Amino acid sequence: MATPAELDEIINDAAFILGKHVEEFEREFARAHAVKHCLGVSSGTDALHLALQVLDIGPGDGVLVPVNTFIATAEAVSLVGARPVFVDCDNFYNRVAGKVEALLTADPDGKIKAILPVHLYGRPANMTRLCALAADFNVHIVEDACQAHLARGRRVKVGNFRTVGAFSFYPGKNLGAFGEAGAVVTNDEALYQRAKLLRGHGEITRYHHVAVGHNYRMEAFQGAVLATKLKHLCGWTEKRRKAAALYSALLRDVDGIVTPPSDRDTYNVYHLYVIQAEDRDGLREHLAENGVATGLHYPVPLHMQPAYAELGYRVGDFPVAEAAAARILSLPMFPELTKEQITHVCDRIRDYQTPRWQPVAAAEEQSRRQAG
Ligand SMILES: *Cc1c(COP(=O)(O)O)cnc(C)c1O
Repeated sequence: MATPAELDEIINDAAFILGKHVEEFEREFARAHAVKHCLGVSSGTDALHLALQVLDIGPGDGVLVPVNTFIATAEAVSLVGARPVFVDCDNFYNRVAGKVEALLTADPDGKIKAILPVHLYGRPANMTRLCALAADFNVHIVEDACQAHLARGRRVKVGNFRTVGAFSFYPGKNLGAFGEAGAVVTNDEALYQRAKLLRGHGEITRYHHVAVGHNYRMEAFQGAVLATKLKHLCGWTEKRRKAAALYSALLRDVDGIVTPPSDRDTYNVYHLYVIQAEDRDGLREHLAENGVATGLHYPVPLHMQPAYAELGYRVGDFPVAEAAAARILSLPMFPELTKEQITHVCDRIRDYQTPRWQPVAAAEEQSRRQAG
């Protein structure tokens, strides 16, 4: 953790906002993602907002947003005055290039100005195809990497694919501050300078403002904490990946459970380990009774949120995401998970699933025999 000496120093100097600790963190985080520029900001939501703003996306523009994500992804689009254009998910959540292509093709007036892929649960979206589409249709890509610190595609690290990326350091994320924090990353010098200006009220010298900006500055405490924790992030990430591999091995032969895809071509950082089950709510209750806390990420797709009623979508518009929302279950996932804890979770899932699925499996076996 940030040593008390560093925090004492911040207090003694009364240097609570930005400053050298934030700058050190920005340098190190940029280096960890092999990206030229990193700008420490006040949250992941603010990072997404700034990213869209520096690309001049605004009223009249559309931005493609997955319908199965945390609402902040879409909110950032609304905050710049643009319209979220929702994209259904696939069975494994974020391999949606085909759907993106269909929407871009169906947009002859070129209202859609950007794609906002989400590296959901820590798994990189299919960026190779999305980047090719972005080039073909001349649209930007803003990566929502809020759940995907250190994740990478075949060769490229997230935040780095094209144009701008946004990270969150909300305490529950793979790299968490002791409060709210986020970052914008880019390889584009001009976009970086623009984001930096807007982060601090568009101020070029004290009380001289050349643009209407925000107060999206990162606090010094958060910079100090994040710089210290960043040193451990590779190790923590490897532990998450080991935990995920153990879950997948133990759940492989449990009837009626779908485990996450194990891609060989990407480095998934498992912000969440999400399974699917037919009777998800029953399974969830059974796990709770056995002391296992689980989560739902996310229970209501964005087009069904009252906040987005005005967009005019209906239930049934995004059938894959709607079906997934009823089946997904996030199992405990953090670096300190022990083998015993993971085994306990998987054993309790097996208790619940086996009696329910045996008759189904027997019936299938019987019909197979009859057919044969
Ligand atoms: C956490 C998160 C955000 C928002 O980050 P905050 O720091 O909480 O504002 C945006 N998108 C996704 C996918 C997230 O998980």
